[in-house]
Amino acid sequence: MTDTTRDLIQRLVSLARREHYTCEDSWYSCPQSEDGSANDNAGAKCDCGADEHNAKVDAIAADLRGDATTATETQ
Ligand SMILES: [Zn+2]
Repeated sequence: MTDTTRDLIQRLVSLARREHYTCEDSWYSCPQSEDGSANDNAGAKCDCGADEHNAKVDAIAADLRGDATTATETQ
């Protein structure tokens, strides 16, 4: 894989990754968002779907990079 391809994949990942949901009323914000949720009963886990979405993005990026075959390479 060329450095250019690697760069392009990284740019794609940056564009595809989602931020956790943040609401002006932080009661409704995702607990994993920067300021967290004001609702103590919301728990600590992501409830906006961003973690799940980003995990898929990372999995696809790993497939594109062929991580399994380049595990010895350093980034
Ligand atoms: Zn979230």
